[in-house]
Parts: sequence; C-alpha cells; structure tokens
Amino acid sequence: MISIEIKSYLLNKKHVFRIAGGARTNTPVLLVKLKYDRFVGYGEASMPPLYGENIATAQSFIKTFDFSLFSSPLEIEAILKSVDQHAKGNPAIKAAVDIALHDLLGKMKNMPLYEYFNLPKKELKTSKTIGIDSAEITRQRVEEASDFHYLKIKLGGDNDTEIIKAVRSVSDKPLFIDANQGWTNKEEALDKIAWLKDEGAIFIEQPMPKKAFNDMEWLVARSTLPLIGDEGIQRLEEVKTASNFYHGINIKLMKSTGLREAFAMANLAKSMNLKIMLGCMSETSCAIAAAAHLGAMADWVDLDGNLGVTNDPFQGHQIINGCIHLNDTNGIGLINPDWNKIETYV
Ligand code: MG
Repeated sequence: MISIEIKSYLLNKKHVFRIAGGARTNTPVLLVKLKYDRFVGYGEASMPPLYGENIATAQSFIKTFDFSLFSSPLEIEAILKSVDQHAKGNPAIKAAVDIALHDLLGKMKNMPLYEYFNLPKKELKTSKTIGIDSAEITRQRVEEASDFHYLKIKLGGDNDTEIIKAVRSVSDKPLFIDANQGWTNKEEALDKIAWLKDEGAIFIEQPMPKKAFNDMEWLVARSTLPLIGDEGIQRLEEVKTASNFYHGINIKLMKSTGLREAFAMANLAKSMNLKIMLGCMSETSCAIAAAAHLGAMADWVDLDGNLGVTNDPFQGHQIINGCIHLNDTNGIGLINPDWNKIETYV
C-alpha cells in the first residue's frame, strides 16, 4: 500500500526577487513523502503566487486523492493519469506526486533516475539568475555569480539598458535573457534582440506576452536570436504548436506536472527541432535534483532555484564551479533526507 504525508513549507529567498511583473521574498511549498513497503520517496510542489496554486489548494488536492486505488508505485502510469484527471490545472502539486513516485521507483529499481530514463550522466552547466535591480546591486550579484558559466538576466522592465550596462561593466560571460513577457511592442522587441545579440546574449526567453500570438509569429520569423517559450508553453499539448511562436521551449517540472510529462515534452520538442531549456521555479533541492536527471536532453540548463534560498531543507547534487554533478544515489538523488526535522509552515 502507498501512504502519503505532506508538509507545508515556506522557502525564503536570500534577496528580494524582482522580475517583470512582480517582486517577492519567499515561495510557499508543499512537500510530499510517499511510502511503500520499506521505500520512501520525496516530492515537492513549489507555488509562486502568480501561477494560482497555494498551500491550501495543494493540501486539498492531496486529501481528496485516493492512493489506496493503487497497489504499487510500479503502476506509475495509471497513478499519474488518475492524478492528472483528479482536477484541472494544479500542475505543481501534480508534479510533487510525480517526483515522489519517481523517487520511489528509482529506489525500488536500485537506480538513479537518469538511468531509469535511459539518459547519459552529464555535467550540467547551469546559469545563475540575476533579478531586476539597481545597477549597483546588479553588479554585486554578477560578481557573486563568478563560478557560473552563464548568467540569466531578467529584463522586461523599463531599465533594460542600465541592467545590461551594469552586467557588462563586471562580466563578459554569455547571457540568457528572460523578458518574462515584458516587451509589448514587436518592432521594439526586434530592436532589443539585435542589441542583445551584440551584447553577447545567446537566446531570449518569453519576449512578449504569452497570448500575443500574432506578434510572436511575426517576431519568431525575424529574430536574430532563438526565442524560447516559458510562460507560453506549459504542458505537452502546447509543444505541438510551439514552433509557430518560438524556436524552443523552457521545460519546468512545476508547469509540466512532473518528470514524466517533462520527458515526453523534451522528446517531442527534439523531434520538432525545437531547442530545449530546462528551468525551474524557486525550489528546494528536491525538485531541482529531480529535474537535473533530464539534463542530458537540454541545450541549456537553468536549475539554480535552490541556490537563491536560505532554508533549503534538502541536499541534492553537488554544484562545483557552476556545474551540477549528478550523484548516483537511487531515485532523485537526495542525500540523507530528514523529514522529521523539517519545520511545518502553517
Ligand atoms: Mg522564464
């Protein structure tokens, strides 16, 4: 029999985090522990407020789902199908169940998840994200990120030029740019892209609002840099038409409902010649460790959500010189998790 425990948790950010569209200092999380036989699997739902889920919705989702309908985690396909049909939306809490089930399966099958997905073990050069801030703070954050090979710069406010100037005054590293839907005029967006290419940007994430379909069709045909859909691409269904609007997609477990669909999205994207970015929310090392197992499928990795927090309750893969080194612990790769020590938030 599969049993479940949950814990609400408040993940605090090291610094106030600003992007086009808002600022925050913490992220509500629901942690999930699944037990089967002598095995334990951990999962996580990270729920930044703008996506609409919260601790109450996640708790009620879990409390009304009947795990006793299934006899073993080996029925993962049927379980996740039923989880997805249990209620519309709710991708983060669905991801928590998916991650915990995969952690269980890896432990039962005695293998780390990259092996379960039949992927090579690869060192992942993750980017380090720099939020929107003053020139002085931006320079400071860039200098703090000296270990990393790529910087992910949040733009889309009204001071894009100042931010890039500040970054370039202290670093010549290649840049991932994320406008978070902040550019609303397609001609201006096109000019910004050309300028950012000269400034050493590699791609642009979500340049325009997710529903600006006509503008994105126009822009994707003219852009001199790859355009990556993030807010505009959440689940597998949306990948099918992604190439009308983007050159690639940002896959995140909290949008995709977990590893299983993320893996399917990456496979479909590859078959369509779309670029693949593997991203995250502000997350504990639980969801970050899980996502890293799909790293070999990604062109670009942005798995730094656990690095910008002060109270990560888990320990996962090591980061050495800006590279995530997958460990060979079975399942998602948490090192000696101690559930009882984790302090409940509400
Ligand atoms: Mg993004």
